Amino acid sequence: MSHPDTFRWEYPPAVCGHTSDVTALESSKRWAMISYHVYKHMAANPVLREQFSVQMRETVFFFEQRIKDDADQLRKMREMERSGVAGFRHDTSAVHELGLDKKRWVDAYEVLSPLIDTDKALSRITRLVEDKGAKLVVGSVTSDLLTQEEALLSKYSADAIVNASGLGSYTLANDKNVYPLRGAVLRLLNDGQKFEKIKKALVVSATADGHVKSEFIFIVPRNENILYVGGFSEPDQTDRVGEDHENVKKLTRDAQEFLPDLDTDHRDPAYPLAQGLRPARIGDVRVERELRAPVPEAGSKYSRIVHCYGHAGAGWSLAFGSALEVKTLVEDALEQLEPMPMHAAATSVVSQVQVEHLEKSVALEKPGKESKPADAFQDWLVQPSSDPELSDSTANTSEDDSAEEQHKTLNL
Ligand SMILES: Cc1cc2nc3c(=O)[nH]c(=O)nc-3n(C[C@H](O)[C@H](O)[C@H](O)COP(=O)(O)OP(=O)(O)OC[C@H]3O[C@@H](n4cnc5c(N)ncnc54)[C@H](O)[C@@H]3O)c2cc1C
Repeated sequence: MSHPDTFRWEYPPAVCGHTSDVTALESSKRWAMISYHVYKHMAANPVLREQFSVQMRETVFFFEQRIKDDADQLRKMREMERSGVAGFRHDTSAVHELGLDKKRWVDAYEVLSPLIDTDKALSRITRLVEDKGAKLVVGSVTSDLLTQEEALLSKYSADAIVNASGLGSYTLANDKNVYPLRGAVLRLLNDGQKFEKIKKALVVSATADGHVKSEFIFIVPRNENILYVGGFSEPDQTDRVGEDHENVKKLTRDAQEFLPDLDTDHRDPAYPLAQGLRPARIGDVRVERELRAPVPEAGSKYSRIVHCYGHAGAGWSLAFGSALEVKTLVEDALEQLEPMPMHAAATSVVSQVQVEHLEKSVALEKPGKESKPADAFQDWLVQPSSDPELSDSTANTSEDDSAEEQHKTLNL
C-alpha cells in the first residue's frame, strides 16, 4: 500500500487517538521530544534541511470547547508549553484569520512542528546507514523470530536482531495485539488559484479515543504546491479506498465545513489520494527486548531480539527517541543483562538518562532558553563520514555552526 509522503511530528497522544497505555504514553512523550529536537536541528541547518526535507511549520490546533474546560486537552497543552516545543502561543487569532466559524471554534493554540518529506528522508537515511557499512538485503521472514533466532544470526553474521516490522510483528513477534489502522489523505493543489495558499498546518483532534474508528481534521501544506487533507483512522480494515469511499467523502465534507474557503475539488490530478495502514497495537508502542527464553540452540541465556513496533500514527514523531531506546536495549542484550518488560523498565529510564545528558549539555532547550543546538547534541547528530559528498556539502552552510562543526555529517 502506498503511504502519504509527508508526515507531521506530533506531541503524544497523536490526534488520530488510539492511545491507552500509560507507560507507553509516557515513553512516547520522551521519545517524541528527542525526535523533535533532532528534526528542529535538521531544519535549522540548510544542508540537512534540504537532504532530509525537514521544515518547521506553524501548526494550529483548534477546539470546539475552551481548553480549560477539557482536562485532557489542558494537560496536553500545558505539557507542550513546558516541554520546550518552539513557538507556543495560546490564542485564537487563527480562527479569525482563516474565516472559521467563531461560534464553533472557540479555542486554539499554536506551536512550531517539524514536517518531514518521508520519501526524501528515508532515501537519505538509507544512504547514510549504507555509508556506515550496513548492507541492505531485501527479503521476507515468515515465522516467529524466536524460533529462528540462531539461524538468522548466523546467516547474517549478526550479534542481535532488531524487529521493526510494523504489522509483520503479528507473526514475527507472535503478537496478536498488532492490528492495522487504515488511513488516507486527499492531496489538493495549494497553488493559490482556487483558494488562498495555506501556509500553516491546521489540526482538529480525534473525535474518539481507544481502539475504535476515529475522525479528525488536518490540513497540512506538504510543500509549496501540495496540501494534505485528512483524515480518519479505521481499525482492522486493509482494503484500498477510492475517492468515492464513504470515509474519504466524510473527511472531505468535514474539512470543507471547517475551512469554508477551501476547494476540496482542487485535487492533484496525478495523485489525488494517498493511503496506508498504520501499524497499531493494543497496549500501544512496544520497544522492548524479547522476554521469552531463546531456544536452546540459540547459545545464549537471553534472547538477542529487540522489538520496536506498534507506533501506529506516530512512527515519525517517535522515530529518533525510540531508535535511541533500541540502541540501549541491543547493548543490554549483547551484555546478556536480564530483559525487563517495558513497564518494569521504569518508563524508559534509559531515554530519561539520555534526555538529561542532552539537557546538561544545553542541547535540549528548556522553555525560555534560546533555541540553539549546542555542541553535544550536534556531536550526537553529526559526525565525520567517509562519504566525501556528504562531508563537503555540510561545510559552510549552517548560519550558526562553528567552524569545527562544518565538516560533519549525520550519524544515526
Ligand atoms: C494515512 C497515514 C498518515 C500518517 N501520518 C503520520 C504522521 O503525520 N506522523 C507520524 O509520525 N506518523 C504518521 N503515520 C504513521 C507512520 O507511517 C507509521 O507509524 C510508521 O510507518 C511506522 O513505521 P515502522 O517502520 O514501525 O513500520 P512500517 O512503516 O510499516 O515498516 C515495516 C517494514 O517491515 C517490513 N516487513 C513487515 N513484515 C515483514 C516480514 N515478515 N519480513 C520482512 N519484512 C517485513 C515491511 O515491508 C516494512 O518495510 C501515518 C500513517 C498513515 C497510514
